[in-house]
Amino acid sequence: MTAKANIVVIGTGGTIAGQGKASVNTSTYMCSVLGIDEILGSIPHAGELANLRAEQLLQTGSENFNNTHLLAIGNRVAELLARNDVDGVVITHGTDTIEETAYFLHLTLKSAKPVVVVGSMRPPSAMSSDAALNLYDALAVATHPSSRGLGTLVVANNEIHTARDVVKSNSFKLDAFRSPYGALGYVIEGAPRYYRRPARAHTLDTPWSITTLRSLPKVDIVYAYGALEPGAISAITANARGLIYVGTGNGNVASHLIDPLRDAARRGVHVVRASRTGSGIVLHNGAQPDHEYGWLTVDDQIPQKARILLTLALTQTDDTAALQAVFERY
Ligand code: GLU
Repeated sequence: MTAKANIVVIGTGGTIAGQGKASVNTSTYMCSVLGIDEILGSIPHAGELANLRAEQLLQTGSENFNNTHLLAIGNRVAELLARNDVDGVVITHGTDTIEETAYFLHLTLKSAKPVVVVGSMRPPSAMSSDAALNLYDALAVATHPSSRGLGTLVVANNEIHTARDVVKSNSFKLDAFRSPYGALGYVIEGAPRYYRRPARAHTLDTPWSITTLRSLPKVDIVYAYGALEPGAISAITANARGLIYVGTGNGNVASHLIDPLRDAARRGVHVVRASRTGSGIVLHNGAQPDHEYGWLTVDDQIPQKARILLTLALTQTDDTAALQAVFERY
């Protein structure tokens, strides 16, 4: 019999740490109140999967997470992964921004050891809560050798998603997580089954290491609609290094917003056209002459993933061509 893996479970809050008044409260409850020891205590059989050690790093809803939280989580996970007596890390997390934290870790951790971010849509106190099974599945994934080298994973609703693609796409249903090209695999009866691997570079194959990141540049997001006023663009770009412009359709820009966005680019703000459709590609020099305006485009990254990627890219370069290449590679 092979020795059990050593897994550290980091608690950060969220619905998985939530508590409702009654079991009928599937959507009304106090968020981030249960400690990670209490959450793990509800699945004693998880001890059969791995040797578990728990630590409480944060205790807050993930809607509050800013760049400082991302750095704190990344640094702690990196410290743990560097230890010989740690085989993998599971992070319990609110589901609201799980896709951003996971993508940040996917791009900045320098290890092949499994890292799994997990949350739940219903608190442990609710009927048919997904908290216990999601956490159990996340531990099963983190423990399994086939999860090595896949970057950061998000486990929910019996599915294993790559951090690059996963997005919370429903506000209350258990089946809330989607990857546009499908999950990497399933978890069943405490074991992962993989059918695909991440195609884009991550972890050991990126130029960003959490251990050398001290602070992160400011990148903002603006969501476009026909009545958006030029003043909003100048206000949001006043002290930003980058702007993800969430345009209509193929990242399109209303004619009265072209000048303010060109002005921002002239002031050195990196303007990236993205799409508010939720999926698909924004074609460079397609809907707008990006080359002439000094703008960038996402490849298929949704706005919140594009913000993470541009934030990291700007820690190393201001060169427009180099920044554009980053969107094609990660
Ligand atoms: N406030 C919660 C969060 O941490 C709600 C969502 C959840 O965890 O399901 O994101």
